[in-house]
Amino acid sequence: MVANSLGKDSCVVWDLAKRVSPHIRGFIVTTRFKPPETKQFMRESVGRYPELKVFENPEPIPDRLYETDPDRCCDVLKVEPTRQAIEDLGVGCWVTGLRCTEGRTRTDFREVEQRDEGLIKLNPILIWQEREIWQYLALYRVPVNPLYAEGYRSLGCAPCSRVTGGGDERGGRWIGTSKCGGECGIHTRPLIDYQI
Ligand code: SF4
Repeated sequence: MVANSLGKDSCVVWDLAKRVSPHIRGFIVTTRFKPPETKQFMRESVGRYPELKVFENPEPIPDRLYETDPDRCCDVLKVEPTRQAIEDLGVGCWVTGLRCTEGRTRTDFREVEQRDEGLIKLNPILIWQEREIWQYLALYRVPVNPLYAEGYRSLGCAPCSRVTGGGDERGGRWIGTSKCGGECGIHTRPLIDYQI
């Protein structure tokens, strides 16, 4: 099961997975705050690959929670639907586009991990550089979100993604908050509810 964030790295992993087997499935976690371009790209991706299942949490949250408590906002809108996807789809092993060269919070991951009991995570492009991602996408003509053409290096929700020119690939995420350049929690928070 591939976790497809619709970002450039996920586009590579999804393309690689489809070359391994057309039967490999995937899921997308989206939120009400994704940019219109990302929502359109998601519709196109699902149209092309109906085996990509979309998860979104419609739960009400306070206005501008992404400013007052972005950790909580990500927890509700991103981590919770990821947990739901893993439970609903019966995932025992998932594959991600996580890369250890993306930023300060991604240096310690491994290619094969088990952070939650019974849930193995594969990070097959962990050591790829940003340049190699773009080389792959260009060589194999893989479609990407058009927002990359505007200069974004890492894409998330609209209020929390900016174009930046610094050295950190994820430096444009959550600018102005303690979470700047950090994580939404999908790769750091528990994903299985052990209270069952
Ligand atoms: S990226 Fe921003 S808007 Fe999206 S869930 Fe996280 S805090 Fe909320």
